[in-house]
Amino acid sequence: MNGGTESAQGAKKLLDIQNLHTSFFTHFGEVKAVDDVSLYLDRGETLGIVGESGSGKSVTMLSVMGLLSENGRVVSGSVTLSGRELSNLPEREMESVRGNEIGMIFQDPMTSLDPVFTIGHQITETIMKHKSVSREEAKARAIEILSSVMIPSPSRRMGQYPHEFSGGMRQRVMIAIALCCDPDILIADEPTTALDVTIQAQILDLMKDLNKRTGTSIILITHDLGVVAGICDRVNVMYAGHIAESGTVRDIFHMPRHPYTWGLLKSVPNPKRIVKERLVPIKGQPPDLLKPPAGCAFAPRCEYAMKICLAKRPPAFDIAEGHAASCYLNHPDAPRVPDAPVRAGV
Ligand code: SF4
Repeated sequence: MNGGTESAQGAKKLLDIQNLHTSFFTHFGEVKAVDDVSLYLDRGETLGIVGESGSGKSVTMLSVMGLLSENGRVVSGSVTLSGRELSNLPEREMESVRGNEIGMIFQDPMTSLDPVFTIGHQITETIMKHKSVSREEAKARAIEILSSVMIPSPSRRMGQYPHEFSGGMRQRVMIAIALCCDPDILIADEPTTALDVTIQAQILDLMKDLNKRTGTSIILITHDLGVVAGICDRVNVMYAGHIAESGTVRDIFHMPRHPYTWGLLKSVPNPKRIVKERLVPIKGQPPDLLKPPAGCAFAPRCEYAMKICLAKRPPAFDIAEGHAASCYLNHPDAPRVPDAPVRAGV
């Protein structure tokens, strides 16, 4: 349902997640954080995963990386990287996948960088952990990678500590560390949330440029639909552990077919509109995943909810090739909804 002719897509797919279920086992019961998620990433593309906090976007990627907290577990499903199943790999092999094949950066670089070691030390150690190279070769690679993420005077900066870098520069260092072993995929989890708008734009431009220059595929996790517009090829919108809608950036911005996507669009400013528009937040709260609803998880917040929405979870309806939405409004017998917002100019 997530798009494309299977045989054609099969050859291009780098990462393929099928029917992933991930839960956290707490004192209060099982929290189904990821509930039947299927998505894929093609070679060389940039994929956005968008949703509110708690929608399961980060947990999906932590499941791929084998980085769930102690009480988290992949209950079922399959994750393949270049055709190799990752979900049952021993931890030692997963360690090699992390860094060598998939690099990940997080929202707050200060918590990921060690304040007592220089930047140069942290990058060279990462390279030497994953590649059999001498310290000198690792240093040369570290300088090269710092330069590729546009850090000025990279040789001098190698000897400095994280606190000597600005927020934007620290995020560039994190991107450098994630890329220093030439992974096929860079997963960026809210990489610009802690930064001001100008620096945000610079980091997104840098990622776009890296994708073009090196062919590294990127998964960008964000709560901000506006962020994906300029950088992503395709988008998966997640809600309450499910994929609500998936499609190209054009599909999602110009022909959205899920009320949750409409809500996200109404809450994002459109810089191309000359007349200022009023932003409308989505009313209500996401459901408690300890007791997920039987029907559509968005129903309590959805102004179009019908009887069937409360009883049965909607399947993914194919809208066009590569575009699908899990909403009964896409059923041929559903009532017509006139006011779906369309984002011209994105
Ligand atoms: Fe709203 Fe029903 Fe669609 Fe869910 S399935 S988003 S409740 S109309």
